[in-house]
Amino acid sequence: MSIRLGPEQENTGFDKALGEYFQTIPVLETRTILVDGKHEAVQPVSTDDSIVKIVSYVPFGSKYKLTLRGVGPGIADVVWDTSTARRDRSKCLEVAVRPVRYIPTGFSYVTLSGGRQTSRTIGSVDTMILDANRILQPQANVKIIKMSEQICDLSAGGAALSLDGKNNILALARHIGGWRIQNQIARKEFEVFFVPELEAKAGNSDTTQAATYESVKTCFYEDDVSPLDEGAVLAHEMCYAYGRSGHTNKSGQLMYKSSTKTFVPKTLADLLNPI
Ligand SMILES: [Zn+2]
Repeated sequence: MSIRLGPEQENTGFDKALGEYFQTIPVLETRTILVDGKHEAVQPVSTDDSIVKIVSYVPFGSKYKLTLRGVGPGIADVVWDTSTARRDRSKCLEVAVRPVRYIPTGFSYVTLSGGRQTSRTIGSVDTMILDANRILQPQANVKIIKMSEQICDLSAGGAALSLDGKNNILALARHIGGWRIQNQIARKEFEVFFVPELEAKAGNSDTTQAATYESVKTCFYEDDVSPLDEGAVLAHEMCYAYGRSGHTNKSGQLMYKSSTKTFVPKTLADLLNPI
């Protein structure tokens, strides 16, 4: 049996080809999924109606259309075969019903000493947030909320600040601490600083688009992330702030390095929005 994205589900990430029979549904929302395969004629059942309810299961062309409703927070299975004592994962869809988790985020536009500054301007982040939430919301019910936007002028910082190499980035982070105090800018849960150019290692060619420090939930994000999807990069970086370390070798997933793919596997959804 295979279960594929339904027409209403573009980009929700539920796709057998990516290795999981798993679906997140926000509390009190419905999701429709296309199902096909040899077990399709069997009416599926929910193992816990107080978590997920089957609204309908109807033929749809050569497939079946399964509509589910998230009732309350928790994890339950939708099963096509209840007879097997040891449940066959290929006949079972795990459903996590999650309340929304908001990530209050501050966005700052950095000017370095020497007047070198990001080419981004206040307001330009809105499309990026929308694109990031288009990935995060359906798959983990996580939503980035813009709490503030401000210019972060470090041009009077004295010593030349560079964004080439980890030590320099950490030095910049210290300068930002001073800027915060001076301008009475409160920390938000997650912080994004737009900078003109960024390299994780000194002398690198343009390989780094962003760097995120989990301990301070702070992301440095460069202007030129082309040809990557900016929303996907923001969502990818946010995952580091919430405990993800390193990349995956699975190329369809959000945490694949330099990928525009957006699939959020169960382990990542659980990290971002634990039930
Ligand atoms: Zn990465």
